[in-house]
Amino acid sequence: MATAEAKLQKPEFTNEPFVDFSKPENRTAMEAALKKVAGEFGREYPMYIGGEKVTSAEKMTSTNPSHPSQVIGVFQKATAEQARAAVEAAAKAFESWKRVPAEKRVEVLFRAAKSIRERKFEISAWICYEVGKSWVEADADTAETIDFCEFYGREMLRLAGPQKVTPYQNERNFMTYIPLGVGAVIPPWNFPAAIATGMTVAALVTGNTVVLKPSEESPTIAARMVEILYEAGVPKDVLNFVTGLGEVAGDALAKHPKTRFVAFTGSKDVGLLISEAAGKRQPGQLWIKRAVLEMGGKDATIVDEEADVDAAVEGVAQAAFGYQGQKCSACSRAIVSEKVYDTFVQKLVERAKKVTVGPSEDPANYMGPVVSESAMKGILNYIEVGKKEGKVVLGGGRAPGDGYFVQPTVIADVDPKARIAQEEIFGPVLAVIKAKDFDDALRIANDTEFGLTGAVYSKNKAKLEKAEETFHVGNLYLNRKCTGAMVGAHPFGGFNMSGTDSKTGGKDYLLHFLQAKSIAEKAS
Ligand code: NAD
Repeated sequence: MATAEAKLQKPEFTNEPFVDFSKPENRTAMEAALKKVAGEFGREYPMYIGGEKVTSAEKMTSTNPSHPSQVIGVFQKATAEQARAAVEAAAKAFESWKRVPAEKRVEVLFRAAKSIRERKFEISAWICYEVGKSWVEADADTAETIDFCEFYGREMLRLAGPQKVTPYQNERNFMTYIPLGVGAVIPPWNFPAAIATGMTVAALVTGNTVVLKPSEESPTIAARMVEILYEAGVPKDVLNFVTGLGEVAGDALAKHPKTRFVAFTGSKDVGLLISEAAGKRQPGQLWIKRAVLEMGGKDATIVDEEADVDAAVEGVAQAAFGYQGQKCSACSRAIVSEKVYDTFVQKLVERAKKVTVGPSEDPANYMGPVVSESAMKGILNYIEVGKKEGKVVLGGGRAPGDGYFVQPTVIADVDPKARIAQEEIFGPVLAVIKAKDFDDALRIANDTEFGLTGAVYSKNKAKLEKAEETFHVGNLYLNRKCTGAMVGAHPFGGFNMSGTDSKTGGKDYLLHFLQAKSIAEKAS
């Protein structure tokens, strides 16, 4: 059987190394990229529909959360009609793109990966400015973007061509994966390069056409990624780019009868809306829409009395305050055995006091701003709720500066059923909860509607094994922090209200974008 893999040989996948910013040459390169990118602020970006540049009457701006008066880019505010036109264009383009051999589509991803690698610092600089990531966090986002292109490219080689089935008498039989059709790709802003690009290239490499509608908070990075994909060889009508409001453009994409699937990552509430919209058959719709939905979390770290408390403190601090707590995997609950509770809280507060907050272009700041004014208001509101639900032992308000800076905040003695222990805050706010023992900690950890990531710190093997069996999360980490999933090594996606467990960066992921056709021919 001639598979595409045989024709296009690639070394085994390895993760893109992170940039070492302690090296002077890398610091100089990042400073130069930040300067260059700042010179491109304020540009207006068109949409791309059916290969044409399209503008709209109404515009929207993307601003820098570290310095809100800085306009990063000006964008089109698509109407629902424009979004629908993009689906029609993608449906037309599907007729040719689905016939392009898999290796050709894979080559596009490898070319995109190369191009992103060559422009690494520049892309990280855009991320740093548009969504307030520190240098290190922005670089991790860029590296993950490269990883998705490299990993899904290789995976498509594995899935291309006839797949073996059990031989059956007097038949030539096999199975082959074919694309679905038009995909609406609707990403969040918090991994503005990696998630937007990852979902897009997964859909494209499997032979689908795409309408990408980025988050209102991060359209510039999406626009840069779209430019890179066009340069790498994605035909413009195959990847349509529509900017605008989620409830207008995103809603129109999810509901269109020619949309075959929606790949969404974002909040629980919007994910559920999309699930409903996709589930309702529209007039003229020929299929049951597929919805790949990756949603929020209320991720917990369990600190057992038999844990290395210092390691747990470090892991919790990084997972709670890295990127200002705005990762779906962020630790927002520390569930601590009463035997080590006081020591843990005291050590955590000491550690978290060292967290620096300020503009993200300055590498001295570990935490940058939260993404927007409304995000900041929402977080500050939760902190006010938390003041009634527990004891604020660190932070508890805004940090100085014009940007949307929030102090790293630790709220101790929180009841497991309190709002700040149940609802996703998506900011640098950690609830610390006391548990009677390990079983109690596991019970508390599982007692939310989410099930995304979780971590357990313990030196007791039996307890770790129990967590493996009963801690109901899509990504469980033992004696390490609950953030920082690596493509290939940690396929990512959650249970319950955290989503459909699609496992991005895993070997099952591309199957969400394919359907299998079984063929059997009677031997003559
Ligand atoms: P969001 O739900 O507000 O927005 C996500 C996307 O949906 C955006 O592109 C937005 O424009 C669009 N949208 C909004 N309303 C819509 C509608 N009615 N119809 C169609 N599209 C609509 O989420 P966000 O604030 O961008 O991202 C943060 C959330 O994403 C958090 O809850 C976080 O946990 C989650 N997240 C999950 C994962 C994961 O892998 N599970 C990864 C990253 C982020």
